[in-house]
Amino acid sequence: MGKKHYRIETSCPQCGCSAVSHLSTEEIKEKFGDVPNVEMECSECMIKYHTDMEKACPEWDKECKMNQ
Ligand SMILES: [Zn+2]
Repeated sequence: MGKKHYRIETSCPQCGCSAVSHLSTEEIKEKFGDVPNVEMECSECMIKYHTDMEKACPEWDKECKMNQ
């Protein structure tokens, strides 16, 4: 059984550049914990921004709520 990976998609509010990450359950927990939003750093303009987990990765958000 392979590990499930989630697709996290965000876009920078400043330059509009989008970033996609594929993370496993463990990686998401380690990186973001149980917070409802994701902190990202734009690779283009280097600003840090927050995105709702609900928008960045609806699939993870759903599972997160189910496991509570
Ligand atoms: Zn940017």
